[in-house]
Amino acid sequence: MNRRDFIKTAALTAAGGLLLSRFSLAADETSAALTGKADVGVSSMPLRKFGKTGVSVSPLGFGMMRLPTTDGKINQGEVERMLKYAIEHGLNYIDTAYVYHKGESEVATGLALKKSGYRDKVNIATKYPFWGAKNPSHFDKVLDEQLKRLQTDHIDMYLLHSLNAGIWKNQAVPWKIMDKLEAARKAGKIRFLGFSIHDSFDAFKEIVDDYGKWDFCQIQLNYLDENYQAGLRGVKYAAEKGMGVVIMEPLRGGQLASNLPTAVSAVFSEAPKQKTPVEWALDYLWNMPEISIALSGMGEMQHVQDNILYAERSSVGMLSKEDLAVVEKAHQAFLGKNAVPCTSCGYCLPCPVGIPIPSFFTALNTVGNRGKERGQRQYDGEAKKAGVRASDCITCRKCEDKCPQHIKIADKMKEVAAAFDTAAKK
Ligand code: SF4
Ligand code: SF4
Repeated sequence: MNRRDFIKTAALTAAGGLLLSRFSLAADETSAALTGKADVGVSSMPLRKFGKTGVSVSPLGFGMMRLPTTDGKINQGEVERMLKYAIEHGLNYIDTAYVYHKGESEVATGLALKKSGYRDKVNIATKYPFWGAKNPSHFDKVLDEQLKRLQTDHIDMYLLHSLNAGIWKNQAVPWKIMDKLEAARKAGKIRFLGFSIHDSFDAFKEIVDDYGKWDFCQIQLNYLDENYQAGLRGVKYAAEKGMGVVIMEPLRGGQLASNLPTAVSAVFSEAPKQKTPVEWALDYLWNMPEISIALSGMGEMQHVQDNILYAERSSVGMLSKEDLAVVEKAHQAFLGKNAVPCTSCGYCLPCPVGIPIPSFFTALNTVGNRGKERGQRQYDGEAKKAGVRASDCITCRKCEDKCPQHIKIADKMKEVAAAFDTAAKK
């Protein structure tokens, strides 16, 4: 019996009939009717409402933007293994996008679902990118390409990707994109309409109210970013409107998972309940009734196994006052430690001179979290691999428009150079 099975068996024994009845329900047809997707075998995954859609979803969604790679290519076999495990343990929401892994994420997702035969067991979410689009006909071309890549005749949850006030006003509205989405829904190519956003609460509210018929939205939230972008206010506003709420960056690109500042690790190790930092971060979200799904970009099997286990234990209102105080203490301990709010999403790449922007920012954050020596070592390794240093930045700012965190990358790169390139500085 492995660690996971052991923990599960113990939980089952303790919970007795309550959990067993949930197991039985998940295996029968009643559960299939609840999810809108048939369950695969036996699962103890609790389900949540997806707004007013009538669909029930697993609290954990599989983010397909940080898949395992070998020599720069997606490791398809490993992706298939991880997805199969997740679906067989009750996960029913997979989130990809036209641009993830330069288009290969959708292809890998489609292939994995085809091979496993599990397409109809899950909800596929993917996204339409406005960047690179010159006119509205781009939308039809992209949607048809996505259906082919995903090897399916319909997409369950379709999002306009990374909206902000400018894209909404200058492209989405004048191009009548919502009419196109509704026509695609009528044609059976899309089931539910949503959008993801990296902009302020005011921009979020404007987009929600302007259209007024959104089924769901995707917002960045974690215990450090309650007031960042649409944030917690956005989550509550969307829920009031009956929208399903999908959370991205629950671990802030991994910053809340590993290499934690010593002060933050101390908060968790001294907490009355022992949980991993990842479980604390996810529980913070799952505690809220407004949240339907937390997406996790799982890059290895261990992440899948751990996160599934955490999701199985989750429920609305699961955190006590003491638990919430632990999370708040961790938040306070984090403040001021990170020099750059980079989530390592990689949207800013490629840089014309080859600067590995997210890796250099990670090294800069390591200085605050783990000390100068570690940060320098990390930076030197990344700079050697890439064959460039931060001081090679030509301040072209081509990367900045693409950054959903609105980081002034060229200016921050000067800080990276000042911290690590003193000798090489021009
Ligand atoms: S501003 Fe610097 S980091 Fe950004 S793309 Fe240009 S050279 Fe690369
Ligand atoms: S700098 Fe911005 S776009 Fe680039 S990896 Fe970081 S958060 Fe993503």
